[in-house]
Amino acid sequence: MAPTSFTAFTATHEDGTCTREVRTLGLDDLPADGVLIDVERSSVNYKDALASSANGKVARISPIIPGIDLVGKVAEGVEGWPEGTAVIAHGYDLGVSRHGGYAELARVPAEWLVALPDGLDAREAMVIGTAGFTAALSVVVLEERGLTPGDGPVLVTGATGGVGSMAVGILAARGYDVAASSGKPDAEPYLRSLGAGRVIERSELAREGGKPMESMEWAAAVDCVGGLTLANVLARVRYGGAVAASGLTGGASLPTTVLPFILRNVALLGVDSVQTAIARRREVWTRLATDLKPAGLDRIGHDVALGDVGKVLDAILRGEVTGRTVVDVRG
Ligand code: NDP
Repeated sequence: MAPTSFTAFTATHEDGTCTREVRTLGLDDLPADGVLIDVERSSVNYKDALASSANGKVARISPIIPGIDLVGKVAEGVEGWPEGTAVIAHGYDLGVSRHGGYAELARVPAEWLVALPDGLDAREAMVIGTAGFTAALSVVVLEERGLTPGDGPVLVTGATGGVGSMAVGILAARGYDVAASSGKPDAEPYLRSLGAGRVIERSELAREGGKPMESMEWAAAVDCVGGLTLANVLARVRYGGAVAASGLTGGASLPTTVLPFILRNVALLGVDSVQTAIARRREVWTRLATDLKPAGLDRIGHDVALGDVGKVLDAILRGEVTGRTVVDVRG
C-alpha cells in the first residue's frame, strides 16, 4: 500500500515572490486523477528553474511541486500499467500546471506514461530526461530531412548544457563530426570526452553586425540558444542544410532575413518536447535506449538530493551548470 504522506520540494508563488521549501505533503495534495507513481528520480531543467523563480512565468499553480521529468514505479496498478512497472513521464503539464517529479509520489495520467525501455536504468533515464529527449528529437528531425554523417560537420550550441551535452553525445555516438560551441572557458576537455571533434568559443557566434549569409561551414546544427547565435548559425549552414532549434537561453528574437532560406535552401526546424504525441515519445525513448543512446552518459550526469535542488535551480539560470543534474528524491 502506498504511504499517505510523502516528502516534496515545493515552490510557492505569492505577491511577486517565490518561496521554496522541502515539506511533508499528503496524498490529498496530489491531483485526484492519474496513476500513482513511487518516484525514484527527477532532474533539473532550465524550465524547472523558471517554474521555481519569482519572475519565471512558467508555474501555473501555486504551490507547485516542480520537476518536468520523473522516473519511478507504478504504486497502484491500473489497466495496462501493473503495479511495479518502471515508467518515465515528462512534459505535457508536469511541473507547470500539474505537480511534477520533485516528490516521493506523483499522480500522472496513464496516457503520458512511457515504459522504461530495456537498455536504460532509472538513473540513466533521468540523466537523459527532457533535455536528452529534446536533443534526440532534434537529431531525428534533422535525419528525417536527410542528414547523414557523411554530409559534413554538425554544430551544437550551448554545448555544455543539458540539451547541448546530450546532442553532442548522441551525434558523436552516431558517427557525426561534431563541432561544439560553449561560453565556458574550461569546457573543452568535457566536450571532447563526449565526442566533440572541435570546440568553438561562444562569442564567435554571438557577434552583432554579421551578414545573413556568411561562408558555409556546417551541414546542420542543433541549437538550444536562439537569438543572435541562431541568426549567425543560419548564416553559416551549408546549402540545403538545416538547423533544429529548441531553446532561447540566448534570447527569443531572431535577427536574420529570409536570405539563408530562399538562397541556400536552409531549413529551420522547430523542436518541441512538451506536446510530442505519446506514440512518437515512446518510439524516441526506445531509440534513446538503443541507436540514439548518447555517448558519455556517465560523464554528463551528476546527482543531488531534494534538499540541494534549490542551489542547482539558481545555477542553471545563471548558465553555470555543466551536463545534467539528477535529483534523487529519496536521497
Ligand atoms: P541548460 O542551462 O542546461 O543549458 C543551456 C546552455 O546554454 C548553457 O549551459 C550555456 O552553454 C548556454 N547559455 C547559457 N546562457 C547563454 C547565453 N546568454 N547566450 C548563449 N548561450 C548561453 O538548459 P537546458 O539544456 O535544459 O535548456 C536549454 C534551452 O532549451 C532552454 O532555453 C530551454 O528552455 C530549452 N528547452 C526547450 C525544450 C523544447 O521542448 N523546445 C526542451 C528542453 C529545453 P555553454 O556555456 O556551453 O555555452
